[in-house]
Amino acid sequence: MSYQSAQPFPFEKSPSAVAAAEREALLRNPGFGRVFTDHMVTMRYSQEHGWHDGKIGPRGAFPLDPATLVLHYGQEIFEGMKAYRLPDGGASLFRPDANARRFRSSAERLAMAPLPEELFLQSVRALVRTERDWIPAAEGASLYIRPFMFATEVLLGVKPSAEYLYCIIASPVGSYFKSGAPAVTLWVSETYTRAAPGGTGAAKCGGNYAASLAAQAEATAEGCEQVVFLDAVERRWVEELGGMNVFFVFDDGSLQTPPLGGTILPGITRDSLIVLARDLGLTVREEPYAIDQWQADARSGRLTEAFACGTAAVVTPIGTVKGRRHGFTIGEGGAGPVAARLKAALLDIQNGRAPDRHGWLDRL
Ligand code: PMP
Repeated sequence: MSYQSAQPFPFEKSPSAVAAAEREALLRNPGFGRVFTDHMVTMRYSQEHGWHDGKIGPRGAFPLDPATLVLHYGQEIFEGMKAYRLPDGGASLFRPDANARRFRSSAERLAMAPLPEELFLQSVRALVRTERDWIPAAEGASLYIRPFMFATEVLLGVKPSAEYLYCIIASPVGSYFKSGAPAVTLWVSETYTRAAPGGTGAAKCGGNYAASLAAQAEATAEGCEQVVFLDAVERRWVEELGGMNVFFVFDDGSLQTPPLGGTILPGITRDSLIVLARDLGLTVREEPYAIDQWQADARSGRLTEAFACGTAAVVTPIGTVKGRRHGFTIGEGGAGPVAARLKAALLDIQNGRAPDRHGWLDRL
């Protein structure tokens, strides 16, 4: 499958809809996912032309025929990544090659045309270069990049679409959790599961998130910030949160995280933290952890910390866990030293303050 244009991503310079002073004001307190930059990448796929017509143009709406396949059968995938401001004023991406790979494997799982990884990388870099002024400089803030792709063939037959639209939008963001609280409260869902063996749990498709919303609503109704899902077969093993992976820290200094078995999202933050923890001399196990064991270990003090991790949440301590059969607090219910150390190590690399020993930064 070859790209048909000699010059991918020509930049159609459109005047910024937002004046510089207004942009500065928006960047001071962007929240999460509410403010958007001026431009977007679009590129089309058809069986006849392969990937073609890649460009950066003004951000705008898509006209969609009511019979567009994505509106009926949900063939849609996305990625989430961030661009960071470096101390020298430059910009960087963190492990964008890993997002490119995951986007391709999500496409394969959803029977969509896979986007060549090089095109993914080129398109993300081109948009970040264009929107460089939108990368906030404040500590903890960044430019969130959202590549996504959906089925555009106009048809009501249940089959893989013959046409796709790939797009990237960008949004300056601050902290993911509004409260800025030191730790989140989790609700253990006994009613719903997120993913079953053989399902789409390892793919980043919109349908997984649609299916998680009722569980998230239950968590909110129970006064919790996030839902924690158990495995679909035994309802025993901790899998992940609605949009984050999870780590456990024990009193012997070791860490544990659920293994990647096709039912959880292979988080890039998860993978990076495993490497960074091992760099710090810590033992990390990728092994299943039972919810009842979590409760027993929290109560006995064997478990000293637990934290969630992801691009949006970075590293977020878990304070309290509640459920129909569970209720416990971890440690003092706040931030612990291991989570704090790993978070600092990750942010220092992402923001260009620490040596990039693993070659994770992509400087633009
Ligand atoms: N699990 C789920 C379900 C997610 O949506 C995310 C966010 N992409 C993660 C885990 C964390 O993945 P990453 O570290 O790549 O952001």
